[in-house]
This record gives sequence, structure tokens and C-alpha cells, in this order.
Amino acid sequence: MPGRLAHKVAIITGAGSGIGLESSLLFASEGAHVVLADINITAANKTHSLLKEKYPNAPEAITVKVDVGKEQEIKALVDKALEQFGRLDVMFNNAGIMHPADDNALNTEEKIWDLTMTINLKGVWWGCKYAILAMHNNPTDESKKLHTGGSIINTASFVSLLGAATPQLAYTASKGAVLAMTRELAMVHAREGIRLNSLCPGPLKTPLLMEFLNTAEKRDRRMVHIPMGRFGEAIEQAQAALFLATDESSYITGADFKVDGGISSCYVTPQGDPALPPPSSLAS
Ligand code: NAD
Repeated sequence: MPGRLAHKVAIITGAGSGIGLESSLLFASEGAHVVLADINITAANKTHSLLKEKYPNAPEAITVKVDVGKEQEIKALVDKALEQFGRLDVMFNNAGIMHPADDNALNTEEKIWDLTMTINLKGVWWGCKYAILAMHNNPTDESKKLHTGGSIINTASFVSLLGAATPQLAYTASKGAVLAMTRELAMVHAREGIRLNSLCPGPLKTPLLMEFLNTAEKRDRRMVHIPMGRFGEAIEQAQAALFLATDESSYITGADFKVDGGISSCYVTPQGDPALPPPSSLAS
């Protein structure tokens, strides 16, 4: 199947929902073999069914149950991709949690801090580690434009750039660390054909945030800070991840790639309704 990711192999963690779900469908529609990884295998299997229904001509995809908070499970995930498809071109370390008991410096329990760091930060580190090892060994095939190296995309957040008086200390610290770690790894591997970039989404209409912002008051408290006047859609993150995954972004590495409706550039927001409707989900 032709496309911007033709013949390439991509692992996407958190493939069962939100950004991971939309990216799985989009990457498959662009010709990639997609490895759909999630701790919730039922959700990953649903993504797989949707993928086959929407894109019957897409290359073979597989699902893998993984807890990104466990190093051996990430190693097994990458091994599975290599065993099945022989290479790894794109690693999208996207899975993450925002724990409801995550709070300020006084109230956040150590176990919530540790859990958040293990999934959101160590999980991304291990995802980078095993992807880099695999990408070093990618076979070259000039006719299919396949080379050693690859693209690693780590999902951080706008909260790694901006402070909020509605704190989620562990989450924010974990995302700030993802940003710093990704930048450093990008420098280390810059001459190996491996690019690493952080995706910094703004506030999105996905289960992760909407389950947390479960009242109009909580949503309005955030909305006033968003220049575009709406929450972002997961598909808008997937489009950015696709760009970072393809060779179209061949000179981009170490970036804090912001897809945030302008929130991180804003002092005073405009008034009025958004002029344009948001794009549609691929899943609908
Ligand atoms: P989501 O909750 O819709 O989806 C997250 C997926 O990750 C789920 O399918 C879940 O089962 C999976 N997951 C959770 N823990 C896992 C683990 N230990 N191992 C493997 N899979 C696991 O969330 P989303 O909004 O799509 O968020 C994806 C990423 O984007 C996260 O890293 C999140 O922090 C980040 N982000 C989200 C927002 C937002 O507003 N939603 C903003 C900035 C950054």
C-alpha cells in the first residue's frame, strides 16, 4: 500500500484510546505496519478491528498487551515487532497516565508520584532504549527507501512548558523530564539517523482529560486560557505525530513540538467563538 509510511514499521503505545487510537488509524492509512500496544488489550483489539474495517488494504497490524511501566514488557514488545516485521522505523512512546490523586507538593502521596514517574517517564526511557537498539540494526533497502535509524516520538505535554495553579505535580514533573530526556537523546543519536522529538499536546477532548474535567466549571477554568477557544482533538496530535514519523521532518530533532492551540504562546486570549469546526475523528 503506498503512503508516507509505506513499508515502515511503527509501534504505538496507548493505541487503545485518544491520541494512540487516532495515530494507529492514520499511520496504517499511510501504509505502515502498526504494532498496537496497550495495557488494555481489549481497547487495543478494538482499535485493530476498526483499522481493518476502515482500511482493509492496510498492511498487517498486530496488537500486543504491554505495561510500559515494566522494562521487560517493553523489551518483549520491541522483540515482537522485530520478529513479526523484521525492523522498527517509528516508536511512538505515547502511553501515559494522569492520576486523580495527583495534587500539590503537600498532598501528593509518594506512591502516586512513583507510579506516575514509572509509567510516564521510565516507560518512555525504556521505549527509547529498546527502539534505539532495534533501529541500529534496521536492514537497508534502497528500493523501498528503508534505512537504518528511525524516528522516536515521545508524548510530553504543554504542562512541561507552563505552570498551572490546578496542580498535578507528579504528572507535570514527569512530562518536563520527558522533554529534557528526549532533547538529550536527540543529541546523542543525531549522527546515527535516529531522530527524537517530543510532542507537546495542549488540552484535548480525550478520556484522559475529560474524565478529570468532569464539570462545566472545571472545563471553563481551562478554556479561558486557550486562544483557539476549544479543546484539541486527538486526530490533530496524530497528524503532527505522522509528520514527525515521516522523512518529511528529516531535519527536525530534539524539538519540543507544540500542538497546543496557541496556549503556550498566550498572555491574553481573544473573545468570541472559534471560526472553524474541529476536524473529525478517524474513528467515527
Ligand atoms: P487516553 O487516556 O485517551 O489514552 C491513553 C492510553 O494509554 C489508554 O488506552 C491506556 O489504556 C493506555 N495506558 C495507560 N497506562 C498504560 C501503561 N502502563 N502501559 C500501556 N498502556 C497504558 O489518553 P490521551 O489523551 O490519548 O493521552 C495520550 C498521551 O498524551 C499521554 O501521555 C498524555 O499524558 C498525553 N497528553 C494528553 C493530553 C490531554 O489533554 N489528553 C494533553 C497533553 C498530553
